[in-house]
Amino acid sequence: MNKRVGPYEIEQICPAVWAVDTDADESLYLVCGSERAYVIDTGSAAEPLMPLIRSLWDGPAELLLTHAHFDHMYRSDEFSSVSLLDAEIAAWAKTLGPIVWISSAASGKCPKRYPVKTWRALRDADALDLGGKTLRVIAARGHTPGSMILADEEDGLLFTGDAFGSGSFAWMWMPGCSCLSAYRDSLRELLVRLAPYRDFRMLGGHRRQGVPTQADPHARPLTYATVADMEKLCGEILGGSLAPESEERNFSVKNYLYRYGDAAIVLTKEKIK
Ligand SMILES: [Zn+2]
Repeated sequence: MNKRVGPYEIEQICPAVWAVDTDADESLYLVCGSERAYVIDTGSAAEPLMPLIRSLWDGPAELLLTHAHFDHMYRSDEFSSVSLLDAEIAAWAKTLGPIVWISSAASGKCPKRYPVKTWRALRDADALDLGGKTLRVIAARGHTPGSMILADEEDGLLFTGDAFGSGSFAWMWMPGCSCLSAYRDSLRELLVRLAPYRDFRMLGGHRRQGVPTQADPHARPLTYATVADMEKLCGEILGGSLAPESEERNFSVKNYLYRYGDAAIVLTKEKIK
């Protein structure tokens, strides 16, 4: 049964893995080994996250960020060890940092100055040892320049952040998101990289978006087929053979939603190249 602590709802996924969902439908995860735990993303709740983590795990807890967007990292200043993919740190000063600042203010939160110099850079294919368990780093550029997926091979789980959305659609319209052809290239590489994990359970950065609702009956839990359909969707849009399903405005930017199979994407016309 799920447990609620303030704005956080906790679900135990397996004996040493918890999913935590915030009231803003952000999903973060706690993965514990015998020696240390990794927290994957932080959400952006106003209330501190660490007391909740401490109620589940009393050993060393380090933070991994699937990517540096506000809703995944706002509470990262509670952690003394913060790791991101090297390409994400490289894109911080010019691209991602300003977006996080603006997103914080737009969400009514106080923008923070993060201790970027202390962040640890991870590389593609790194293996992170938790004691009796390993998390494997898989680069997944596109949504941001240094988005990463983490594979928990022992528990059969993939933590996918926003690399291809969370089951409803992928947001690819923002500054820092790849253009569509570069995203398709990245998805083609990912299909190869993820093939050994194709039956793993995928846990995205907003996992409630994978539950069908009246507002979004197309929502589906993320699977390997989502990634394959997303790659095909990019090709259909680039080939000009697919019309947008709808128009929408996000932060006053005009966007288009396209859909193919289990995948959907939201982007500007300028990204279609
Ligand atoms: Zn994101």
